[in-house]
Amino acid sequence: MNWLETQEEDDATVECNHCGREIYEDAEQCPYCQSYQTDEEKHSSSQPKWVILTAVFLLALFAISIVLQLL
Ligand SMILES: [Zn+2]
Repeated sequence: MNWLETQEEDDATVECNHCGREIYEDAEQCPYCQSYQTDEEKHSSSQPKWVILTAVFLLALFAISIVLQLL
């Protein structure tokens, strides 16, 4: 019985929004990089990823269409 491991999992840990290290879920501040853990940051950090991907995709399409016109 690995009840010790089970107990460790009971301590709710989350990844730091900033450095990605495991910190306690109820910790307001990351002990490693000192960044504050807020729900707002979680939401805003998940959105820009696909926004940037879409922007890059559109830019690539735009660049390809220009190159095709020049040929
Ligand atoms: Zn951190």
